[in-house]
Amino acid sequence: MTLAYKLIDAVASNKSGRLIKGMCRPDDLLCGARLLKDAQRVAVVTGFYVPSAQAPETDGPPGAAVMARALEALDKDVQIFTDSLNAPTVKACCSVLGFERLNVTEEPEELLKKLPDLLVYIERLGAASDGRYYNMRGEDITQWTAPLDKAALMAQDMEIPVLAVGDGGNEVGMGLAKKTLQEALPSFEKCLCSVGCTTLIPSDVSNWGAYAMVALLSAENGRWLGHDPQEEKAMIEAMVKAGAVDGKTCKKVPSVDGFPSSVHEEKVEKIKELFLEWQKKSSPLVR
Ligand code: CA
Repeated sequence: MTLAYKLIDAVASNKSGRLIKGMCRPDDLLCGARLLKDAQRVAVVTGFYVPSAQAPETDGPPGAAVMARALEALDKDVQIFTDSLNAPTVKACCSVLGFERLNVTEEPEELLKKLPDLLVYIERLGAASDGRYYNMRGEDITQWTAPLDKAALMAQDMEIPVLAVGDGGNEVGMGLAKKTLQEALPSFEKCLCSVGCTTLIPSDVSNWGAYAMVALLSAENGRWLGHDPQEEKAMIEAMVKAGAVDGKTCKKVPSVDGFPSSVHEEKVEKIKELFLEWQKKSSPLVR
C-alpha cells in the first residue's frame, strides 16, 4: 500500500460510523494536496457553533491551524477565516501553533477580498437545499451560522478551486457527494449540505482529513510540515479553556467528536509515522 492508501485507512475508515467507507479515495487526497501545493494565496475557513451549549466545537480549528502553518512554511500567503461566535476558540487554537493571521467576519465576500487562488473549508456548516443550516441533530441553527459557505459558490463561479473537508454530510463541500449521501443517510436528507466543491475529503473526524492532506503535502515537498501529538493536546486544551465543547457530546472536556484527546494524539503520531515510513522507502504517493 502506498502513502495515500495508508492515510485513508488511518483517517477515513468510518471510525466515527457517520460516513461510508470508500467515500474518500486516494486520488481525492492527492488532488487535495496538489491544490494546496499549487496555490499561492489560500483562505481557510472553519468554526462550527453549538447553540445548545452556547459554545463552538473542537473539530475544525486544529485542522485549519495545522494546514495554515504548513502552507506558511512553504511561503504561501495564508489566512484563516471564521465568524465572531467561533473566533475565541479558533484564536486560542491558532495561538498554540503561533499562527496569527486570523480574520473574523460574517460576510462571505470578505473571504474573496484578498483574491485567494484557493479556498479551503474545514468542518464548516453549509446550507441545505432549503437554504437553511442544520446541525447533526437535525436542528435548524441558521440564526447562529454566518453564511460563509456562500463564498464557496462565488469562488467556483470565479473558477477559484474549493477544497473541503467534512465528516457528517452537512458541511460545505458535501454537495459534491449529495447523491451518495442521500442513499447512505436517508433520514438526514433534509440536512445535507447542497454546497459542492472542487475536491472533497470526507473523513472520520474533519481535523484528521486536514492532517492527512498535510502529510501528503509533506511528501510532495520531501519534509515534514505537520504537527506533533503534544501540539494536538495543547490545541484541544486551549480551545476548551477558551470555551469550546465536544461537538458530539456537547461537553466542555478535552475531546473532539466524542474521542478523548489521547485518541487524537495517537492519530497524529500515526500520521507522522506513515510519512516517515514513506520517506525512508520513497515509494510513489498513490500507485
Ligand atoms: Ca466533526
